[in-house]
Amino acid sequence: MRAPTVTGYLHRLSADVVAAVIPTSARLKILLCALWLVSGPLLAEPQKTGEQRGDDFTVRARYLQEQDARLSPEEAISALQRDLFNADSRAVPSFGIGARPVWIYLPLSNTSPTQKSVNLAVGKPWIDQLNVYLVRGDRVVRRWSTDGSGDESGDGAAQAAPGIGYLFPLTLASGRSGILIRASSAEPLVLDVALLSDDALAQRKQQSHYGHGLLYGFLLAFVCGNAMLCYGLRERSNGLYSLYLFGYIALSFIYSGHSNMWPDNPFIQRYGLSLALVLFCSAGFLFACRFLHLDTYAASTQRWGIGIASGAVLLVFTGAAADVQWFSVWAAFLFAAVFIVGVVYLGLLSGRHGERAGRYFLGAALCSVVGLAVTLSAFCGLLPLNTLTFHAVEIGLVLEATLFSLAVARRVRSQEEACRAAEQLSRTDALTGLLNRRAFDDDAASIWSTAVRHNRPLSVIMLDIDRFKAVNDRLGHPAGDRVLVQISRLLASCSREGDKVGRWGGEEFVVLLPETSVAQARRFAERLRRAVSASKIAAAGTSISLSISLGAAERGRHRSLSQLICDADKKLCEAKRRGRNCVVSTGPREATA
Ligand code: GH3
Ligand code: MG
Ligand code: MG
Repeated sequence: MRAPTVTGYLHRLSADVVAAVIPTSARLKILLCALWLVSGPLLAEPQKTGEQRGDDFTVRARYLQEQDARLSPEEAISALQRDLFNADSRAVPSFGIGARPVWIYLPLSNTSPTQKSVNLAVGKPWIDQLNVYLVRGDRVVRRWSTDGSGDESGDGAAQAAPGIGYLFPLTLASGRSGILIRASSAEPLVLDVALLSDDALAQRKQQSHYGHGLLYGFLLAFVCGNAMLCYGLRERSNGLYSLYLFGYIALSFIYSGHSNMWPDNPFIQRYGLSLALVLFCSAGFLFACRFLHLDTYAASTQRWGIGIASGAVLLVFTGAAADVQWFSVWAAFLFAAVFIVGVVYLGLLSGRHGERAGRYFLGAALCSVVGLAVTLSAFCGLLPLNTLTFHAVEIGLVLEATLFSLAVARRVRSQEEACRAAEQLSRTDALTGLLNRRAFDDDAASIWSTAVRHNRPLSVIMLDIDRFKAVNDRLGHPAGDRVLVQISRLLASCSREGDKVGRWGGEEFVVLLPETSVAQARRFAERLRRAVSASKIAAAGTSISLSISLGAAERGRHRSLSQLICDADKKLCEAKRRGRNCVVSTGPREATA
């Protein structure tokens, strides 16, 4: 039985935790689900060198790094016999960027009496060149190579399988034999080796296809979603984020070996990884600048960052144009290291400047940069390469994309709230909190047309505080303001739901009463008048008594709402003339004292 891998463990653990936290935080659930998704059936795992596959073959790899001159296979066999090859204790040996070519020897033992077919999987798809030799005794009996120079090159001899590495189908005679491999690459020399039966290979290919399908599907959904948000909201940071994720898909496409679907394009093989890496990091950097509004408080940092990113892109492209592969590779990987540190720095900087987005950004960016740092370090031989370190960048990006979606959702929600608050503010009278004149006109217009269409009663009351100027003169303007606020509250509390109460101007108010005849309006106005004159209003440390005058009118032959309001205003003027503190309305009984 296979030992459980770290990812397998994480997969089960996160599934358990998701089940346990179902009633709690939805955010946590989303994150754990994402972790569960990527750590489950994801991509084919890196193979451990020396792992035994099948009963009939035993494998124990040993390594020799070329020093100065290139060794021939015969010289490598001689070095092997002189015991110059060493075992490597790492599960997956990685010799870093620009390492000298490495020879690997796999002693094989086919204990069955018949010959056996087996698939040799070596290295990673980005490795530039592999030469494979089947050795019996001290003689090379067959040879293959990735550049077509062996005697078994061509179809089926050396295919790069996405997510697995280079595949060499071998037929092993009974007894002892050995495989010698020479690997060279300007890019990280990661050399995992495995012998796979046809079934095991088919299973790993299937895992890889499902895993990549899942990963690319997940990320492409975010790419499209952010591109649409960019278009719909005119928000450039979403577009840059979309580009950044797309850059990662291109990068993953190349380093997992999907780009080898076009084997006749040696440029992609030699420079694809560096170009995709530098474009991915540059897009990430531009996104960070935009998302964190760096131009408003750290313009010079932004200029520096854009300068470094442009310089890196230029260096990598120049290396590619001049066909100096090691130069492009170093420039891309060094820029990736700067990007990792830079993004964390930008997150901290924006947090210090009180950017709310900075908190989300830092949390999300940490996921991806830690993942990227772990995977790149493992490729460069600084960390052991295993399932977790190999897929750390993918896990980090999936978590990051999820967190950024929450951040975008939050941003959209707070913009909506701000819009609603601004609209509310634009409709409200700042002092009293009642509808201002514009909002009253807006609301009243639709009520008026409904009443006209259905021929329903509708009344208006205009009211004015009596001798209010004297209050201001006696107690001061601020005290007058407080009086206005208290009278407004009284009006609002006395009116019914559906009535519209607005401040018409100064110490004058308007109330629109749908489904109300003038007799009912008059009763309501009387109630208001009595409530105001009965209350003691606190102002400037004393309490004062006030009165109001009111005019009421009902919709009749009026051609517009303003005519009706005008009528009510006339009645108000009449109330003032009659001595104030009274209601005057249209109808049989015109006024009450
Ligand atoms: P009348 O009974 O005839 O209505 O007498 P009045 O004193 O109430 O009427 P007048 O139109 O002479 O004065 C209205 C006063 O209301 C004058 C103005 O300073 C005051 N006023 C208008 N708006 C405000 C306000 O927002 N705050 C305060 N404190 N006073 C206001
Ligand atoms: Mg007045
Ligand atoms: Mg007035």
